[in-house]
Order: sequence, then structure tokens, then C-alpha cells
Amino acid sequence: MAIKVAIIGGGVAGVSAALTLGNLGFDVTLFEKKKALISGPPFCHLHAGGNLYREISTQDCITLLKQSIDFAKLYPFAIDKRPTIFATPIYDPQEPLDLLDRLKRLQKEYEELVKKDKSNMLLGEPNEYFEIFTKEELLELSKKEPKLKPKTNREWLIPFAKNLDFNTIKFPVIVVKEYGINLFRVAANSGLALEAMPNVKLLRECEVKEVKKEQNNFKVSYSGSEIGDLEVDYLINAAGFQTGVIDDMLGIKEQRLVEFKAAYVTKWESREELWPEVVFHGIRGTDRGMGQFTPYCNGLTQLHAMTPQITLFKDGLVSSTKVSSYPKLDKKFIDIIEKGWPKELLETRAKRAINYLGYFFPKFKEAKVAGKPLYGAQQIPGDNPDLRVAEVSFPMPKYARCEIVKVSSVNDMAKAIVKDISKEFNIEVKEDIFDIKELKKLEDSLIDSRAFEVAKKLNYPGEISKRCNR
Ligand SMILES: Cc1cc2nc3c(=O)[nH]c(=O)nc-3n(C[C@H](O)[C@H](O)[C@H](O)COP(=O)(O)OP(=O)(O)OC[C@H]3O[C@@H](n4cnc5c(N)ncnc54)[C@H](O)[C@@H]3O)c2cc1C
Repeated sequence: MAIKVAIIGGGVAGVSAALTLGNLGFDVTLFEKKKALISGPPFCHLHAGGNLYREISTQDCITLLKQSIDFAKLYPFAIDKRPTIFATPIYDPQEPLDLLDRLKRLQKEYEELVKKDKSNMLLGEPNEYFEIFTKEELLELSKKEPKLKPKTNREWLIPFAKNLDFNTIKFPVIVVKEYGINLFRVAANSGLALEAMPNVKLLRECEVKEVKKEQNNFKVSYSGSEIGDLEVDYLINAAGFQTGVIDDMLGIKEQRLVEFKAAYVTKWESREELWPEVVFHGIRGTDRGMGQFTPYCNGLTQLHAMTPQITLFKDGLVSSTKVSSYPKLDKKFIDIIEKGWPKELLETRAKRAINYLGYFFPKFKEAKVAGKPLYGAQQIPGDNPDLRVAEVSFPMPKYARCEIVKVSSVNDMAKAIVKDISKEFNIEVKEDIFDIKELKKLEDSLIDSRAFEVAKKLNYPGEISKRCNR
């Protein structure tokens, strides 16, 4: 008889665990209380080197690089192949080339990964992992016509150079092969593949209300689209920022943080050309926090600015307590998560974001708010809000608790769960657990239409689901 597994939560952690275990033949039930999979906190950036985060260790950057390559192998149809420009604002205390030693190390690591296995070469040639451009080179590029299909870093830089106010940043700028991820395409990919697995039961709009540890198994009680109790051999808690709710049900004490954040969806009508992503470094939590300009197709642009007035929120970071492993966000954040955004707050914050990025690209100030933000609360295990690398822990036998901070950690998370299950039940599993035929046989056109549907269902413009550069 197949081992029975329940997974609570259909975010990227839960669906990736379901795909892996479904592929290995386990009897999997995935519970998601909302109507759509992957409708929690958003993601847009594949952190293939962690260069957004100047404060994290080089070792964590290397881990993020490796994990990102694995993620791109698992969800290739969701990767938007456009590089990221890292620029340092004139007001920032650090210098652009402070990142140089770390970038050289990352390039070496990438080269080694490619030497070991050619299939790791998903970020282009290792010697092109990053490239530095001087002010003079950028001034030269600002006179060129943008390419319809940019190929080289130089070509990707043209729209940036044409729109930049050269007085706002220090030089040089650095272009890195950190690509984009389209979350609507991950949702489409994983939803279609899970629906094709006969041994996976997908229960959308079905909330787990109670979990009990019994002698040799767990009893999971649920209600919503279906009502019932399920006895399982192994339990996976992938409930995202509500992981602590399930921990509390099992009497497990754990220290963790939860943070509410938002990114704003805008439309820049006159932007027709393909853009790279652009990151303006800054000190998180100050009025001059990092700004992030994330391009989608047809002028849609997502904006982050790590200031308390834009992406971050006063009281938006909370901690667990001695009595509960679930950090409780203020009701106003829970209302936004459950009921949506008050129009006024959305307009004010999104317009601030446009002005923040418009400081660097003056013409961008004409952009308009294009719908509800991409937002949500995420968990951070432990007590360090700067933590960016975390996978899963096993606080009780036959119980895995997913605690990813970046989506690229899902392969390592799934690998660790499979290892724990094989140890607990003394079974052997096949080597290549990510060789998932239900994912591989999906065609791009099918993903296109499902991703469009997913975006519309979640009330975003359908075109946000498109991949600009395949
Ligand atoms: C603004 C913002 C931007 C971000 N950008 C990036 C980025 O660019 N790159 C990146 O790698 N990461 C990014 N992140 C982080 C990323 O979004 C999270 O790490 C990731 O989405 C977490 O996935 P998860 O599956 O663990 O949790 P979630 O996506 O929160 O999934 C948990 C699911 O469990 C369900 N659930 C909870 N309790 C129950 C229950 N009792 N019964 C049934 N279902 C339940 C919830 O409805 C939810 O769907 C960003 C986060 C934010 C907030």
C-alpha cells in the first residue's frame, strides 16, 4: 500500500512537494483553502546569486545560485530570460564595485557547476554571468535604438541607458544573469501537472481545521469544498505564514517571524521594448530602501521599494511568542489578505512607488496604477529578518515543516522531505526525483492559456502571465 501523505497549503512549497511525492508514487492529498494554487505572497525574481541582498553571506549567495538553477530546471516554462541591472544610487553609502569579489566568486561557482554537468548552464555562458558597464559605455548605448529581441547584455542595457537620469546613480553599473520568474506560469505548470497525477488528490477551497497526532499517524480534519477526516502516515505543513497555526495544533513551539509586503502593478503605456529588471540598491527599512523595477510584457511593470511607505509596513513584521508559534499580524493586514485592498491605500502606495522609481527614470512618472498589488505575508524561520536561505525542518517524527524564504529553495526542501520519508519508512527512492514526466510533457501553448486564466481568476491583467523572453 502506498504511503499516505497530506500536504497543508498549495503555495509554491506545497505544490512542489506534491509534484515530487506524486511523481514517486505516494498517495498525496493537497489541501489549499483558497480557490487557486500559488495565490499567496508573490515572486518575480530568480535569485541566482542573491545580489539583491548585499547584507547576506557569500555562502548564502552560492546556495541561492545553485538552488535557482535547480528551480529553473523544475519550472523551465516559468523563467523569463532577461538579466538584472544592479545600480547604486548617488545617495547610497556603498560603492557599485563593493559587490565585485562576491560576483567573481559566484562566477567561479557557476563555472564549476557547468563543468560538472552541462545541463546546469541555464544562465548563459559562465564568463558572461556578470558584466560591468562604465558611464561612457552607457552614454554611448543611450544613443542606440532598442532591439526587438535583445541578446547581449549591451543590447539589454539600451532602454535603461535611454531612460536613466545619469545624475541619480554612481558608476559603473553591473549586469547579472539573475532572471525573472513568472508566478502565474508556475501556478499553471504545477496545477496542470498535479491534475494529471492519478495518485494526487487536489482539494482547492478546502481548509484544514484540525490536526491530531495519533499513535502511528496523523488525523487531518477539513472542511470547505469537501468535508471530512483523513488519516495519513506523513504530514507536510506548507501553510506559509500560517505554518505556526498547524504547529500550535500539534503543540510544537517554534521561533519565527512573519512579514507582510507588497509590490505594485503599474502600466507604462509608452514602453514597448523589452527591458531588463533593474535594482537600485538601498538600505532596507529606510526612506532610501532598495527599489526594484520588474518588467512584464506590454508595458506592465511591477515595483518594489523597501521603504516603510511603499513595500514595507509599520508593524508589518511580527514574531512568534512564548505561547504561540504563530506570529500574529495586525487585523488590518489579515483583512487585506482575506478581503483585498482599500482602493485609497492602493492608489497612494502605488503612486509613491511610481515616483520612487521615476526619480531614476523621469519618463516613468507617466506610468499608471494597473490593478491590485502583488502582495502577501511570508514566514521567516528564526529571528533574523535578513535570512534568505531556508528549506524545511522536522520537529516531530513523520512531520515536515516547509519554511522557504525564497522560492528557489523548493528543490532542496523536497529532497530533504524525500530523504526523511525514506528514513522513517525504511524505503528506497529513485535517484532523479525531479524527473517529473507530467511537468515535462506540458506544452508552452497550454501553459500560456492556463497562466492567462490563473491571472484573470486572481484579478490581474491577463497579459502579466506572458513570458517576454523565452
Ligand atoms: C512582496 C513579496 C515579494 C516576493 N518576491 C519574491 C521573489 O521575487 N523571489 C522569491 O524567490 N521569493 C519572493 N518572495 C517570497 C515568496 O513569495 C515566498 O517565499 C513563497 O511564496 C512562500 O511560499 P509557500 O508555499 O511557503 O507559502 P504560501 O505561498 O503562503 O502558501 C501557503 C498556502 O497555504 C494555504 N493554507 C494556510 N493554512 C491552510 C489550511 N489550514 N488549510 C489549507 N490551506 C492552508 C494558504 O492559503 C497558502 O496558499 C516574495 C514575498 C513577498 C511578500
